[in-house]
Amino acid sequence: MNAGHLSVPKVVVFDLGKVLLDFDFNKAARTLAGDSDSSTEEVAGLINQTPLLHRYETGLMTTQEFFDEFRGLTGYRKSLPEFCRDLGDIFTEVGLMVGLNRFWRTQGLPTYIFSNTSELAVDHIRASFPFFSEFTGYILSYEHRVMKPDPRLYEVVERTVGTSGCQILYFDDRAENIETARDRGWQVILHDRPEESLRILRQAGLAP
Ligand SMILES: [Mg+2]
Repeated sequence: MNAGHLSVPKVVVFDLGKVLLDFDFNKAARTLAGDSDSSTEEVAGLINQTPLLHRYETGLMTTQEFFDEFRGLTGYRKSLPEFCRDLGDIFTEVGLMVGLNRFWRTQGLPTYIFSNTSELAVDHIRASFPFFSEFTGYILSYEHRVMKPDPRLYEVVERTVGTSGCQILYFDDRAENIETARDRGWQVILHDRPEESLRILRQAGLAP
């Protein structure tokens, strides 16, 4: 994105995974595999970017149903609370981006989290990361039964934030998610390294 094309937005929308939080599914896969009859690779093949996870993040299964299916497929032996803890314990905070949100909030700019995620992940993140409560609002796939990059979820964002088009500045690390936003006229940053996103924002006078 060329910084020269960025203008002051009315709202900022952040993707969560790999933008505000880094995560390591392999860590959870190793722990969960140790309590099951399956290998780390087999468990990783169930919990990361899979049809099973997709159904759960689309809100088409309850946490209990997701757990029961996982247990049936892997022979997992521990309880649902232990499963939730081990599957949730994969996140680390991205300090630069969390700080950027704090800066914008002190400036009175509304900010939102817009994520493909599940009840299990959000419960864990809300309990473990105080920064999660520092946003104006949240648009979470499982609550709307549709996932990015489906335009219907972007319509939910526009209704929630109360504006559209270039009034919205949006960060996401996945190109297909950015593409739908660009088609709707949002200002977009395809996020990779926090330092690079900050550099772009500073050039446009949008960050300190
Ligand atoms: Mg992401």
